[in-house]
Amino acid sequence: MKIAEAQKVLIADDDAVNREVLGELLKPEYTVLLAKNGVQALERAARHQPDLILLDVMMPDMDGYEVLRRLRADPQLAHISVIFISGLDRPEDEAAGLKMGAADYIVKPFNQTVVMARVALHLQVVRQRRMLERLANIDGLTELANRRRFDEVYGLEWQRARRGKRPLSLALLDIDAFKQYNDRYGHPAGDRALRSVARAAAGAMRRPADLAARYGGEELVLLLPETGALEAGQVVSQLLEAVAALGIAHEASSVAPVLTVSVGGATLEPGSQETQAALFEAADSALYRAKQAGRNRICWHEPGP
Ligand code: GH3
Ligand code: MG
Ligand code: MG
Repeated sequence: MKIAEAQKVLIADDDAVNREVLGELLKPEYTVLLAKNGVQALERAARHQPDLILLDVMMPDMDGYEVLRRLRADPQLAHISVIFISGLDRPEDEAAGLKMGAADYIVKPFNQTVVMARVALHLQVVRQRRMLERLANIDGLTELANRRRFDEVYGLEWQRARRGKRPLSLALLDIDAFKQYNDRYGHPAGDRALRSVARAAAGAMRRPADLAARYGGEELVLLLPETGALEAGQVVSQLLEAVAALGIAHEASSVAPVLTVSVGGATLEPGSQETQAALFEAADSALYRAKQAGRNRICWHEPGP
């Protein structure tokens, strides 16, 4: 049975009969994409992000080895699993293909049952790898990116911002009087409130590159690439409004009758020489000031002269 999110398999072969046979074989179980040469294979791979490529070795113009080499050299495509399907049946050929990073090597003429079994096996590996990546990068309670993932993305975005002389904004959010919330309503209710705030934070993100992550405890971090202080301030103000609109009663809070948050932010201005750590510390001390000034507010770091 074809399920909604069938995995995608790209078949790249210059021989029309081979494409047809493999395509018909896989179609009942997977979403099948076809390419009749190496260039088309790369183009389809980039456009459709298949889970697996069945790649013919001998093709005119660009052979399968070269296709694999180019896939591995492209950060967007490097992770895609490849099975070589080849008429080259010497052990040296098979070893060379596997050494290049192919997941498997099937010799033509192939047995259909064996092809199906190997494809199923490698797609299972792909699913398991995805799940592990997810577990490594996602916080279980809030389903936001976790701190590990944030650190990774922050490093990349910070470099990108510095290189391109683009702004980058960073905001730390901390729930106000959350200890009292837990004490008053219980830890499970605290977990639910934290999840609601996390969902509001994720909902406040506007662009694909914006990231809301759980930094730890009841503290979230927002990373807004290509975003100056003014615009970041608007995003965060709307988030504060969204949190207020959740209307989560908090009778034990001295700040407000509902759950509130405080935010500290800082912006890497284009061309600034500030370090990654200094920007984070600036946002952290802005958060401290927001807490000191009475909570339920935003403080943004003012860059010095
Ligand atoms: P402030 O307004 O200064 O931020 O006060 P606060 O009480 O929020 O801050 P404090 O750092 O004293 O306490 C944080 C509380 O957040 C204590 C901790 O039990 C709670 N907390 C942290 N992570 C979780 C969580 O995952 N679930 C729940 N329910 N509570 C959490
Ligand atoms: Mg707090
Ligand atoms: Mg805290």
